[in-house]
Amino acid sequence: MIYRDFQGKKLSALGMGTMRLPLLNEEQSNIDVEAVRKMVSFAFSKGINYFDTAWGYHGGASETVMGEVLSEYPRNSYFLATKFPGFEKKLLDKVDEVFEKQLEKCKTDYFDFYLFHNVNEVTINSYLNPEYKIAEYLKEQKKNGRIRHLGFSTHGTLGTVKRFLDAYGDIVEFCQVQFNYLDYSLQDAKAKMELFKERNIPVLVMEPIRGGALAKLDESLLSELKALRPEANAVEWAFRFVQSFPQVAVTLSGMSNFEQLEENIKIFEEDKPLNKEETDAILSVADKLTAKTSLPCTACRYCLSHCPKGIDIPAIIELYNDHVFSGGGWLAPMRIKMMDEDKRPAACIACRGCESVCPQNILISEMMADFTEKLSKKQQ
Ligand code: SF4
Ligand code: SF4
Repeated sequence: MIYRDFQGKKLSALGMGTMRLPLLNEEQSNIDVEAVRKMVSFAFSKGINYFDTAWGYHGGASETVMGEVLSEYPRNSYFLATKFPGFEKKLLDKVDEVFEKQLEKCKTDYFDFYLFHNVNEVTINSYLNPEYKIAEYLKEQKKNGRIRHLGFSTHGTLGTVKRFLDAYGDIVEFCQVQFNYLDYSLQDAKAKMELFKERNIPVLVMEPIRGGALAKLDESLLSELKALRPEANAVEWAFRFVQSFPQVAVTLSGMSNFEQLEENIKIFEEDKPLNKEETDAILSVADKLTAKTSLPCTACRYCLSHCPKGIDIPAIIELYNDHVFSGGGWLAPMRIKMMDEDKRPAACIACRGCESVCPQNILISEMMADFTEKLSKKQQ
């Protein structure tokens, strides 16, 4: 196992995410504890020392199961991370109750890493609202040693991440963010990584293989890569891309069976970051993967001053591209819902003022109509 330094702590570069644990049946909370026990034992034997859970994973069962399994090991032999669910309105004024319950569920008296979970365009307002005293309480827990390091996870926009860092940059020590070679441009992860570098914030990566979507590549795409690294498969390319960023401390992979764990561990036994040529090759694969479905918006923003409705067109296109590529999903509907109603795709009046200046000749009004239809289907 390769390790990364985090404030003098030796963290395994591969962490075990526990959002997709093996199940006994269809029910998300029915985790196969014996299978998890075997996976954790193997993970320990191979040097993994970072385990990431959250209040909401598996309907709350992830924390309980990880608490049960990890308590069989000395507490100082692993790092445990969990998160406060600021997206659950009913819990916003109960940070103390949630935190105490988490300690109990995880059978511990401290968390090594504790995160504001899912900072986005809506939750940020709750997290920044002093009435809920969330930051104040967590700061206090850090002071008394029950939180060793405080951070946040996010699927939010670059602007939201900046706003959060501007407010809490003095108390957060790391960020957990969705990062992989596809989201490098699709979700503007490149700009977020640059921001973290600039602010000296270590990064913990989630979704390095995009929920499994990057685990397989068409033979034609893979053959281009094989010319550079004949032995590497699609999963390895995805992990090696993430490994190439020095500010990444831990890469979390949500492993749902033993085979995945074994395969992932093998990759992290060696530090083999991509060189420039290899990075260009994998990013070109990303372009090809998205080319069929993505609109080629360059975010030049020429269109903005031509929209009588004041719609943030490039931001909508970014979400549209993600939504179409993912074949749906929750991210775009969530972000659109957070926008004022008169700024959503449905507010477009198809005047085509934007199209008259778009250097990419994107049929923006048609995209807005299509997106509106796709989102309405989702809500049915
Ligand atoms: S077509 Fe829609 S997005 Fe484009 S300028 Fe008109 S209202 Fe704005
Ligand atoms: S003018 Fe075209 S390319 Fe530029 S931001 Fe608008 S949609 Fe994107």
